[in-house]
Amino acid sequence: MKHLRVFKFGGASIRDAAHMRNVAHIIAHHATQSSLAVVVSALGKTTNALEEVIASHAQRNGRAFELLERIKQQHYALARELFGTQHPVFDLLNDRFAEAEWVLEDEPHPNYDYMYDQIICVGELASSTILAHLLIQEGLPTEWVDARDLIITDNIFREGWVQWDETHQLIQQRAKPLLAAGKILLTQGFIASTRDNETTTLGREGSDYTAAILAYCLDAHSMTIWKDVPGILTGDPRIFDNVTKLDEVSYREAIEMTYYGAKVIHPKTIKPLQNKSIPLYVKSFVDPQAPGTVISADAEDNYPPIVVLERNQALLHISTRDFSFVAEHHMSYLFNKIAAMRLQVNMMQNTAISFSICVNDIDDRVDRFAQSIQEQFKVKVDRGLELITVRYYQPELLKNLRQGKVVLLEERIRKTVQWVVKDVPVMKRKSQSA
Ligand code: ADP
Ligand code: ASP
Ligand code: MG
Repeated sequence: MKHLRVFKFGGASIRDAAHMRNVAHIIAHHATQSSLAVVVSALGKTTNALEEVIASHAQRNGRAFELLERIKQQHYALARELFGTQHPVFDLLNDRFAEAEWVLEDEPHPNYDYMYDQIICVGELASSTILAHLLIQEGLPTEWVDARDLIITDNIFREGWVQWDETHQLIQQRAKPLLAAGKILLTQGFIASTRDNETTTLGREGSDYTAAILAYCLDAHSMTIWKDVPGILTGDPRIFDNVTKLDEVSYREAIEMTYYGAKVIHPKTIKPLQNKSIPLYVKSFVDPQAPGTVISADAEDNYPPIVVLERNQALLHISTRDFSFVAEHHMSYLFNKIAAMRLQVNMMQNTAISFSICVNDIDDRVDRFAQSIQEQFKVKVDRGLELITVRYYQPELLKNLRQGKVVLLEERIRKTVQWVVKDVPVMKRKSQSA
């Protein structure tokens, strides 16, 4: 039996016809040596565009249908380029988009997150339909599988938590026989289902996680995510100059980097792979022969400085109103609230009567949290901040990174420095009045 590999292709790798053909090429090349399960994201920036459809529907501003139609036409145009004008893929695409159109025909659902998941899923359903037919056209034995028949989550919409036992069972029942029969399994990233067949999603950028769930449940030999970068770099090349590629990274290092915001892999991806010692390759779809980065247990933890920058941070200063200490019972009260609202705490510090936390500022979660504790606590919120994490730091690098920034919170643990920063306010000379 051939080794099973799980591949994940993100939006950038399939953004137009030429990129789609490149992906088909990579799959065809590997299908000769390996059994393949392939996970695919929505085309390019489709998920962002669908978020606008959803927001328009919720606001009832009359634009939702028109925005969705634009997205649908982009998919048709791509399909025409790949398959001509007569092809069964058009009816299938029509069916996928019809699911979202029905939701728009109804009044906006009172649960925004529920409505979001019922519409956003069309991105992955449509892109995977196109890719499946391209692979079939290339003569590859491909089986399109709905990820909602493989992955079960709880019913927290937009951030479903995987129900591992049921998911494992479904993947064994439905995916394994297809692979054993020599098929290439093609499914969607990001989307899943509740036990009651309602669509859920795993959180933005969650397709990497889908691939890791499949790899775990199928005991894959390896997983590869195909990117527009040569591998994991020492910093985001969109933000920093002079970054270099890391050839090997440990699971521990990868989970630390991604938790604090390294956008190259979804942070939840690492755990399932680490638990079964499945190596994760990060490779370039532009240069598929290049070795990329391998993440595994074997990598030696010996790295150059690594910088991670996360935007949209909020810093909350919480203090007791009656000057009582922020002691155990206060802490446990606050942490229960934090867990209930699913706030991601990136940094924290406390004094006798105050407690500061830096969290990802997502939707209205920070406001809801602040409101929920304001009877007992005074809360001050600073928004629009950045979290800079530097691992294996060197003094000269720290000096450069601090330029033009005010540090509001700092923490140094062994080789890691973390700062919550804002830009230095620029002072301007007052205009001279006569
Ligand atoms: P996908 O198409 O799979 O969704 P993303 O755009 O989400 O891909 O992720 C790839 C991008 O991640 C790169 O283009 C790069 O700008 C960014 N990135 C951020 N941090 C890093 C890093 N440390 N190493 C490599 N790429 C990074
Ligand atoms: N399409 C989804 C997103 O853009 C999931 C993913 O690409 O990983 O967030
Ligand atoms: Mg992505």
